[in-house]
Amino acid sequence: MTKNTKGYAAMGAKEKLVPYEFDRRELGAHDVALDVLYAGICHSDIHQVREEWGPALFPMVPGHEIAGIVSKVGTGVTKFKVGDKIGIGVFIDSCRKCSSCQRGLQQYCLEGMTGTYNGLERNGVTPAMGGYCDYFVINEDYAVHIPENLPLEGVAPLMCAGITLYSPIKHWDVGSGKKVAVMGLGGLGHMGVKFAAALGADVTVLSHSPGKKGDALAMGAHHFVDTSSEAAFAECAGTFDVILNTVSAELDINKYLNLLKLDGTLVVIGLPGKPYAVHVGSLLSGRRSIGGSMIGGIPELQEMLNLCGEKSIVSDVEVIKADYINEAYERTVASDVKYRFVIDAKTF
Ligand code: NAP
Ligand code: ZN
Ligand code: ZN
Repeated sequence: MTKNTKGYAAMGAKEKLVPYEFDRRELGAHDVALDVLYAGICHSDIHQVREEWGPALFPMVPGHEIAGIVSKVGTGVTKFKVGDKIGIGVFIDSCRKCSSCQRGLQQYCLEGMTGTYNGLERNGVTPAMGGYCDYFVINEDYAVHIPENLPLEGVAPLMCAGITLYSPIKHWDVGSGKKVAVMGLGGLGHMGVKFAAALGADVTVLSHSPGKKGDALAMGAHHFVDTSSEAAFAECAGTFDVILNTVSAELDINKYLNLLKLDGTLVVIGLPGKPYAVHVGSLLSGRRSIGGSMIGGIPELQEMLNLCGEKSIVSDVEVIKADYINEAYERTVASDVKYRFVIDAKTF
């Protein structure tokens, strides 16, 4: 019998992704079905396929930056209709009852959010399959509306990379009068630059790839610092109110803490998998803080998309065919992505 979904999966840790067919569930009363049109490649996909965050569930269809068109709605659906542009991010459900869920912060669900892949669906039985595919079924409460004027390929990365920077930017009040630095100009970092600049902050990119300077300034950054030069750290000491760390690799966090002003905060967003060694002196000497932030909840995701619609903000993408996924992984790890790979779902 033919399966209803075509995609790409990793069949084991560190293995290359291969074509894979599977069945999504029948539409429930509060489910919507969508034709996936684009799926972004997040570095978190690579960390999980390669088990850099610990043991993973295989076969794994990664992908949590999903943009598509609603093709069918369940009998009880009120939020969407057939033909709507729809987005899905890093989780597909949560407990809905805990204090975090009640506040719309489903990513911090006290029972644990139900991830889009690499775990079980809410029923505790079915392995959740992610967005590298052509078809998806999701409960309407965990999907969002995409503004009509935005191109779907540029929107897909907003579902993780976008919200993951938008949320801390709002939480730490990055905007006019604030000096913010974005560490790493990759998928997440470039969205941080766009949002922080749109909200009026003075934006510096801290990058180990000097060739990205022109792009950083074109995206709205005011300054670009090449961190491969040690002198840069002395020059920028004590400069920033907030540093948003999106770097996917291990690094000496103390060098970056010293770039904070009095009372500044370094927000950890990148998740390399190994702990940072923090010298407490780097914190004490300027009453500095380290914070962390994980994606964003459904209300904030919709708020961000509405703002993107108003200001025409989308991700800078390189659209690829499905058979290029493995090469795209290698290029992402080598920091050679401008600035997000997005898979054209017609090619699955
Ligand atoms: P990405 O596109 O690969 O970007 C990461 C950037 O980090 C690179 O472009 C590079 O920027 C910099 N970098 C990489 N290796 C480096 C090294 N050895 N030294 C210094 N800088 C280096 O990855 P992404 O998709 O944006 O994800 C970034 C990280 O955030 C990943 O660890 C991912 O798992 C994590 N993440 C977290 C959340 C969350 O909710 N907190 C959500 C999504 C992803 P330059 O070339 O400019 O230096
Ligand atoms: Zn992601
Ligand atoms: Zn909850």
